[in-house]
Amino acid sequence: MSKYWSPIVSLLEPYVAGEQPAIPNLVKLNTNENPYGPSPKALEAIRHAATADLRRYPDPTARRLRESIARHNGVAADEVFVGNGSDEVLAFVFASLLKHDAPLLFPDITYSFYPTYAKLYDIETRIIPVREKFDVVIEDYDVPCGAIILPNPNAPTGIGLPLPEIERLLAAHPDQVVVIDEAYIDFGGESAVSLVPHFENLLVVQTFSKSWALAGLRIGFAIGQRPLIEALERMKDSFNSYPLDTLAQAAACAAIDDEAWFEESRGKVMANRATLTRQLQERGFEVLSSQANFVFARLPGRRGAELAAGLRERAVLVRHFAKPRIADFLRISIGTEEECRRLIEAIDGLL
Ligand code: PMP
Repeated sequence: MSKYWSPIVSLLEPYVAGEQPAIPNLVKLNTNENPYGPSPKALEAIRHAATADLRRYPDPTARRLRESIARHNGVAADEVFVGNGSDEVLAFVFASLLKHDAPLLFPDITYSFYPTYAKLYDIETRIIPVREKFDVVIEDYDVPCGAIILPNPNAPTGIGLPLPEIERLLAAHPDQVVVIDEAYIDFGGESAVSLVPHFENLLVVQTFSKSWALAGLRIGFAIGQRPLIEALERMKDSFNSYPLDTLAQAAACAAIDDEAWFEESRGKVMANRATLTRQLQERGFEVLSSQANFVFARLPGRRGAELAAGLRERAVLVRHFAKPRIADFLRISIGTEEECRRLIEAIDGLL
């Protein structure tokens, strides 16, 4: 607290990002990065862009990238908005589309940035509990509201919602914006992008951080019909009209064109997820069924915090949330075959 602060600053409850520690030989399974690294074509595009003219500002409209994203998703380029990671896109979404006279709805167990943004932008919220098996049930959202945000698959549970459920949610709330945060959609989920032409209240948010393995460049995007995208553009242009730097724009364009690399990378992650799930279950873990690049698992009778600390001592980092109901769970990002093997070895050492 300081006399120099604006009043809002003392009210904020900032999100705590996953650690990026410099432990030698670390198996880092705590922030859901893609273990296989980006497409070589993206790296080549960065080299090329870096030797071109960095003296100049980047394209403020990120036109080429929006065109590439539009092509990949079967929408028009002006239905795409880009930003510095989907976290920034979400910040613009909260600031420009989610504050109304009625509350914003989201699940109690979900991406912990949502309550932070709601507080920052003074948005009234109503938290909808997930059911016993951590599932999001669409009918639970049939309450008066100003807007809805749901991740699909949910985080940190990894549980996906089938497309017909999302469609029902959209149809039940024609006067409210429904944001579907699809950070992890490429690992087996069903994207709602195909519904964009049919629902003017739908905004889908995705990222290059996970399936495209470009978390370090901070690239996220939203897809929706013009009125929603226009709101985001107005907000962005009032903060910083350069959404993405030159290198990020070049890399993302090249990555999105490398379809073969994309399919191979996400295929390997999903295969490793199946193997890891089985190996954890063989050791007595309860593992929630995941459509993401992580699993959410607990070992009955063992405390989550203790397990996470024990793994850390063995140089394996996983994510633990000290929150009611999920305090005994570990969120484990899917690593390479070798990283998953070292995780299992560390678990066997602990048990
Ligand atoms: N949404 C969800 C559900 C996430 O888990 C994350 C990753 N922490 C993000 C959005 C943000 O990802 P990024 O800013 O890297 O695009």
